[in-house]
Amino acid sequence: MAQQEDVFKKIVAHCKEYGFVFPSSEIYDGLGAVYDYGQNGIELKNNIKRYWWDAMVKLNENIVGIDSSIFMHPTIWKASGHVDAFNDPLIDNKDSKKRYRADVLIEEQIAKYDEKIEKEVAKAAKKFGDAFDKEKFLATSVHCQEHQAKRDALHARYAKAMNDNNLEELRQIIIDEEIACPISGTKNWTDVRQFNLMFSTEMGSTADGSMKIFLRPETAQGIFVNFLNVQKTGRMKIPFGIAQIGKAFRNEIVARQFIFRMREFEQMEMQFFVRPGEELKWFEYWKKVRLNWHKALGMGDENYRYHDHDKLAHYANAATDIEFRMPFGFKEVEGIHSRTNFDLSQHQKYSGKKIQYFDPELNENYVPFVIETSIGVDRMFLSIMCGAYTEEVVGENDTRVVLKLPAVLAPVKAAIMPLVKKDGLPEKAREIINTLKYDFNVQYDEKDSIGKRYRRQDAIGTPFCITVDHQTLEDGTVTIRERDTMEQERVPVADLYSIISKKTSFSELFKKL
Ligand code: ATP
Repeated sequence: MAQQEDVFKKIVAHCKEYGFVFPSSEIYDGLGAVYDYGQNGIELKNNIKRYWWDAMVKLNENIVGIDSSIFMHPTIWKASGHVDAFNDPLIDNKDSKKRYRADVLIEEQIAKYDEKIEKEVAKAAKKFGDAFDKEKFLATSVHCQEHQAKRDALHARYAKAMNDNNLEELRQIIIDEEIACPISGTKNWTDVRQFNLMFSTEMGSTADGSMKIFLRPETAQGIFVNFLNVQKTGRMKIPFGIAQIGKAFRNEIVARQFIFRMREFEQMEMQFFVRPGEELKWFEYWKKVRLNWHKALGMGDENYRYHDHDKLAHYANAATDIEFRMPFGFKEVEGIHSRTNFDLSQHQKYSGKKIQYFDPELNENYVPFVIETSIGVDRMFLSIMCGAYTEEVVGENDTRVVLKLPAVLAPVKAAIMPLVKKDGLPEKAREIINTLKYDFNVQYDEKDSIGKRYRRQDAIGTPFCITVDHQTLEDGTVTIRERDTMEQERVPVADLYSIISKKTSFSELFKKL
């Protein structure tokens, strides 16, 4: 575990050192849980957004995109339930004065039982080798059964407390499980209180005439309130979806773990409108489609899993998360929710406007049901960084840090390097850049030895390094080095376009979906 924490620290440091992510307002000592993206980070982030946007909007003829405002009429948040129910249960440790989310403390405790079982299994697998039968072992090991029984009992108690909104019981679980504050090590806890996560501000100039408005905590409501606009102007027929990428704001109680939990972040959300009664079928459909989207990036299928929700949000009748194995455990990257017709019905009620769809096949009006897929750009970014960060031993006494990013997402696709800064090689390198720059993000690099330049590009995940040498001037060939294998090959300059595009083009990736 400690080792994994070290890895995470290294990833955070790497993000800063190589221009991916900087703490916001750093020269003023930063601002809690707010971050800025640097020159490489923005490229990676834009590529993630493009992968999502095109997979939704370009590949599905029944999904269209919008871009709604961050500021919205305040009644929207009353109708959506956020004013009354967008709360997290918080608890303070009286000794360290640190604040925690009570639900997170308990979920981590549940995860500890899971880890204990996994450890027993790993130990036994090692002992029995090929003859090991996991199912049989789980069914017969006394230790595993004890852990499982404790886990299940805790899980049931926790789920009930959350669903009943029973704050005292949440506190009692923390006491009974003897959960200690990781900072002070004590179990001296305050009561559990609810805390609303929405930021608010004033709109309008005078104090009397101004209106309290909220910074949106999710982009979804901008889609719901535009449902009729899009359906009518786009003549959309159910089932259809509306996609949006945009900023969201939450005054998170516990904002640690870098860009995993931010106060200002970006979401990519798609609301899919379906016939009442068909929502669970579409929920299953989107669960599969979304997991496949993640897996197509080739970061290892074993690093993803579903996690079904214990406590359903006030609007949902089914919900699952797609989790990725971060250095600090499996964590939610995306949520898929069956939101029923809650949001549209609420907006119909609060606005007094009819929000319905006339289904020509059924010959009836109804308020559509909704399946939502909601993913955080920043969390996706973090999962990619964590999955890609690799320290490798290369030869004796030599190591390299390489970001094994999916090539389509890499900030720079190829670096073009003249072997030396003379003899016309820089000019030739620039000439090559001029043929590639319209299609790819390419970089010119002439500083330091070739070895150092390779390492710099490895550290930002550049799939190809292309070296221009004296032979290039004679026969029009260059060496091209591949990031992961470090293999070098001599190829004609004329082949570069097809070599780079084969590996880095979105179309190859989309064909896997
Ligand atoms: P959590 O339980 O981690 O607080 P959530 O279940 O409240 O997350 P949703 O409301 O389902 O999250 O939001 C959808 C997605 O938006 C999440 O899967 C996550 O990727 C992203 N997200 C939510 N809150 C944050 C945040 N504070 N910082 C970064 N990304 C976030």
